[in-house]
Amino acid sequence: HADLAMYAAKAAGRQTVYFFDKSLRYAAEQHISLHHDMLTGVENDEFEVFYQPVVDAATGKVAKCEALLRWQHPSHGAIPPTQFIPVAEKTGAIRVLGEFVLTQVSRDWQRLQAAGFDLIISMNRSPREFNLADSADLWLARLAEEQMPPAKLMIEITESMLMKNQERQLVNLRKLRNAGVLIAIDDFGTGYSSLNYLRRYPVDFIKIDRSFLLEVPANKQQNALLDALIRIAQTLNLNIIAEGVENQEQVALLKQLQCNYLQGFLFSKPVPFAELLKFLQQQTDTVTG
Ligand code: C2E
Ligand code: MG
Ligand code: MG
Ligand code: MG
Repeated sequence: HADLAMYAAKAAGRQTVYFFDKSLRYAAEQHISLHHDMLTGVENDEFEVFYQPVVDAATGKVAKCEALLRWQHPSHGAIPPTQFIPVAEKTGAIRVLGEFVLTQVSRDWQRLQAAGFDLIISMNRSPREFNLADSADLWLARLAEEQMPPAKLMIEITESMLMKNQERQLVNLRKLRNAGVLIAIDDFGTGYSSLNYLRRYPVDFIKIDRSFLLEVPANKQQNALLDALIRIAQTLNLNIIAEGVENQEQVALLKQLQCNYLQGFLFSKPVPFAELLKFLQQQTDTVTG
């Protein structure tokens, strides 16, 4: 596990590894066992893809949904993605998880189509998943196999990936976008935020991080900041999704600022596929009376 040793060394701020101290060894061992548990967990059906609806601000109708991974560990219970994704990114298990999510997403997309709902599904992708020379080819082949049109898939990446300017990652990103896959910048505004990369790189959507909504609309400075972020995106002809929408006051302000899409607990938390379908059917009933 040379990878883990290097990681432990980096975490400790050293350049080379000659020994582990006890806590580092403990962290590395934990990562090794989590890594193993994630791989067997995929085989044993412990992972499930949940979906959170994304609403069109103008019509109030669901236009997209985001796939969010859930893990029910056999002995530790539910482990949130904020805990296992960072480990999976370091150990490489993220590629297996990503493959699982993409397959599930394309099959669920088919089921939505069959039920009469034409949605775009977005999924999160970590930088490491773009590192293989043929990452994009593999994903596009999987989409073709499952007969999901690339234009119905959106991939969410973070600003930090574009900032690092890794040639191979960018080549894969461009290949996906040329095939029609939509690209979104997730957690926009929380990274390094050099705005130049937005002009240079292939991006369709930005997702404004929910930290920008926390004190809206009570805090005038926060409102102005939100306004500025949305204007930047509009200037660059990017579509905007606001994350973490929890109340009607936020909806009113976001609509006034002409934010395109809204996502948050106010509409729905992430739910299993069956509940997403119910949510969509109820919405249709309401609209058609
Ligand atoms: P994210 O992509 O920014 O996803 C949004 C997170 O915000 C989700 O947390 C969601 O449940 C939460 N959220 C949505 N609306 C609200 C709201 O109104 N209020 C609050 N307080 N929270 C809200 P979750 O599902 O725990 O996921 C956390 C992060 O884990 C994701 O952040 C994403 O970075 C990562 N992640 C999840 N699934 C995957 C995956 O399949 N692959 C990869 N690479 N990362 C994933
Ligand atoms: Mg996301
Ligand atoms: Mg986000
Ligand atoms: Mg995030």
